[in-house]
Amino acid sequence: MPFEALGLDPKIAKAVREAGYTEPTPIQTKAIPLVLRGHDVIGIAQTGTGKTAAFVLPILQRLSTRGSATNRRCMRALVIAPTRELVVQIEENVRKYARHLHLRIATVYGGVGERPQIQALRAGTEIVIATPGRLIDLMEQGHVDFSGLEVAVLDEADRMLDMGFLPAMRRIVKALPKQRQTMMFSASLSKEIETLTNEFLSNAEVVQIGRRANPAELVTQFVYETTKEAKLALLIHLLRDATLDSVLVFSRTKHGADKIARRLSSSGINTATLHSNRSQSQRIAALKAFKAGTVRVLVATDIAARGIDVEGISHVVNYDFPPQPEDYVHRIGRTGRAKAVGDAISFVTPDDRGNLRDLERFISRGIPRKVAEGFDASAYKALAPTMTSWRPSRPSAPRPQRPNTYASSRPQSRKDARPAHGPRPSAGGNGRAAVNSGPRFADRTRRRP
Ligand code: ADP
Ligand code: MG
Repeated sequence: MPFEALGLDPKIAKAVREAGYTEPTPIQTKAIPLVLRGHDVIGIAQTGTGKTAAFVLPILQRLSTRGSATNRRCMRALVIAPTRELVVQIEENVRKYARHLHLRIATVYGGVGERPQIQALRAGTEIVIATPGRLIDLMEQGHVDFSGLEVAVLDEADRMLDMGFLPAMRRIVKALPKQRQTMMFSASLSKEIETLTNEFLSNAEVVQIGRRANPAELVTQFVYETTKEAKLALLIHLLRDATLDSVLVFSRTKHGADKIARRLSSSGINTATLHSNRSQSQRIAALKAFKAGTVRVLVATDIAARGIDVEGISHVVNYDFPPQPEDYVHRIGRTGRAKAVGDAISFVTPDDRGNLRDLERFISRGIPRKVAEGFDASAYKALAPTMTSWRPSRPSAPRPQRPNTYASSRPQSRKDARPAHGPRPSAGGNGRAAVNSGPRFADRTRRRP
């Protein structure tokens, strides 16, 4: 089905074709006609399913066709997204799709000077894409005029909740005109998201695209059992394999990310970092170089990498194993996208065993252990005794009947599996209950960058 069939203006459909899209994705097919009809919409679909165009295209349509002398040069559409990188990415999309229209687009995010943003707002701009923090700063200084606003979008609403932006979202939405169209997009539908829907949207149409099953089915995953001491050498060893040509490495901390990058760089591997201690221009440059392929390895922290869309990542390396199963799923969602066949590699030290077992329960499958050929771990301290794989045991946590081909022996008993990280994922399901339960949520709010 061509884009025109959704009711899109030929100028917009043309730009979309020029972007290389031949047909709309499922979320676009379902959401665009509803948005065009003026409905409030809540769109739920996994990362990488094309949610951006699902709201940007109908917004452009509204702005290009219903423009009048009275509402020129004022903010008519506002998109809120959780991180600067996402704002920049959405802006790139908007500019691409709006290239045959005459619209002004401005971005508002922290880490760069306020002046140019204030000037852009003052000069009048139809579309504003913003992070909540800086937008509120500018609202408080009186630089933001929402009086002509027609459409508001909360993108990655689940992430914004995770990052503690609920109060900020409330403040912003409260300042918007009551008469407006509101859209919310999220990778998952949770109780909290539903509450937000009731609060921010009216008579919303829910567009939900079936869960992209299990990320485990799209991405080949491996675990390397290792030790803290041997990790860096193991990573360098694995990078000798040239098929690891575009590698996203996750570090738990910014400091750790810098350390990894220094070591890789001194081993002659082109490496950049992405974390919140880096300046905005450094972060943009790092992403750009990684996308362009001039940087082979990008070392990132979870928050910095959130929602980032980079085509053609060949491998994701969990250098530090994520304590939260959902983080793992988000991380490996960066690879294995539609066209790319991605591998996810996780380093697991003895300290990570409990988390690995929780993850395997969460994704309802075991992850094969792999041994790095030709890598002498003993040079970096003896490996811990061989680990045991997860298998469905625990009568307290019943699971669906799924053969686990990797299970070999009984898991060791662990009373301390998840010390401070909220509840265990609920058995069997997609773990949604666990994803959105109270304690974990409370834990996340402290992780605001
Ligand atoms: P999401 O917001 O759901 O995570 P994005 O909007 O970032 O997804 O889109 C993911 C990728 O898919 C982007 O690289 C985007 O350019 C691409 N894309 C979006 N719509 C289409 C389409 N209709 N056909 C092909 N590629 C698309
Ligand atoms: Mg998105």
